[in-house]
Amino acid sequence: MCLNCDATRRGFLRLGLGAAGLAALPRRTRAAGLKPLIMLDPGHGGHDPGAIAPDGYYEKTITLATALELRGALLETGRYRVAMTRMTDHFVTLQGRVNLAVEHQADMFLSMHCDHLPESNLRGASIFTLSNKASDKLAAAVAQDENNADGPSGTPAEVSPQVASILASLETRATKIGSATLADDIASAFSARIPLLPDPTRSANFAVLRDPSIPSTLLEMGCLSNAEDERRLRNLEQRRLLVARLTDAIGRYFSDPGQGQVAG
Ligand SMILES: [Zn+2]
Repeated sequence: MCLNCDATRRGFLRLGLGAAGLAALPRRTRAAGLKPLIMLDPGHGGHDPGAIAPDGYYEKTITLATALELRGALLETGRYRVAMTRMTDHFVTLQGRVNLAVEHQADMFLSMHCDHLPESNLRGASIFTLSNKASDKLAAAVAQDENNADGPSGTPAEVSPQVASILASLETRATKIGSATLADDIASAFSARIPLLPDPTRSANFAVLRDPSIPSTLLEMGCLSNAEDERRLRNLEQRRLLVARLTDAIGRYFSDPGQGQVAG
């Protein structure tokens, strides 16, 4: 587990707008013909390097490079609008990332990270979502850590009135809605092409997908603790393969009228 990623998860949970929380934002009606807006969130940045590979390579560098490549690929399809929480190597607070998603009325929030596991032989991507069930170990750990000391990203100082309003109205709903569909689409698109950790998706309660609004997923693209994964993530061609699979997964998601709410 990447401690910095874990801090990110804890921070989103503190905000009440974790994966499930963002997914619970009220369904909005896009104007006819308005393309879905995808908010890409390259993890870490600035003074927060994220996970650090044994040779000193930073997670924040990989997340930004991959997100920029994904942005280009998504725009190239002509099907989406794309925004990013950061486009350079600078620090953005967790609240700032959430606020950006809210302000942009994002239809999808994809937070991009790299893992760093204690076992260096483990490699592969994994996809993290939250639900009120919190039946998976990771979600339980997040809850357990909620009151722990601040992570590198710090405790969000103050929730904006807009976010506070959403939190108030969604306090119960937010924990009932997950983003498993997108996670499954990503896992499916990666299958046999991108290495996956065993049990790569942290399953949510699919019953809560009856009213998804913003699917939100935290993607661990691989493990910087594994030499093969580090080489893969630092290799442009391999990143392009990952980006192509992600583009396919997002396409699948938005092609499903029951989930994607594709603009007319
Ligand atoms: Zn991370």
